[in-house]
Amino acid sequence: MNTVYLSLGTNIGDREANLKLAVKLLMEMPGINVKAVSSIYETAPVGFLNQAAFLNIAVRLTTALPAAEMLSACQQIESELGRVREIRWGPRIIDLDILLYNHENIETESLIVPHERMFERAFVLVPLLEIAKEDTAQLLRAQQALQSMDLKKEGVVQWKQSGTAEEFVRSVN
Ligand code: ATP
Ligand code: MG
Ligand code: MG
Repeated sequence: MNTVYLSLGTNIGDREANLKLAVKLLMEMPGINVKAVSSIYETAPVGFLNQAAFLNIAVRLTTALPAAEMLSACQQIESELGRVREIRWGPRIIDLDILLYNHENIETESLIVPHERMFERAFVLVPLLEIAKEDTAQLLRAQQALQSMDLKKEGVVQWKQSGTAEEFVRSVN
């Protein structure tokens, strides 16, 4: 079984509902077992600044899916929620990124793991470290990267405290 960490983000529409629906769809995917969902964080936009604030979470799951199929599963959920790609790093209904896949380093045309920009993003590292279980080299690197950041300046604020994954999706309509 493979352990995978995902980062989810949204800044369009009912952001909390988008996150919940995405996690519910993940839970319903054959071959995916959602183990933990972080607190929800509200975060200032990065990269393309003139857009609404994001809600971000991290998810820990185990899966039988190979990494490429895990990426397809993420992209399928993005499409199901109606994501359309326009501005790079621009507004989106939902973004599902693979942060870590076991301890592997993957570099294909469509997938780079660890996620290329994760170690410089407080909005990724804060939720990730909340649910991180192992102490792999990559997670230690994440911890070190976060320690060197000023979270107030990075604009990452806890918005809703975490519970279990089941509690997280309980109110999805
Ligand atoms: P960023 O990658 O900076 O977070 P983004 O998530 O907005 O930006 P997307 O438009 O969602 O970027 O994805 C662009 C491409 O990134 C996808 O087509 C996908 O093939 C590729 N990609 C590479 N590595 C990953 C990864 N670890 N997780 C998700 N997508 C990835
Ligand atoms: Mg992304
Ligand atoms: Mg993405």
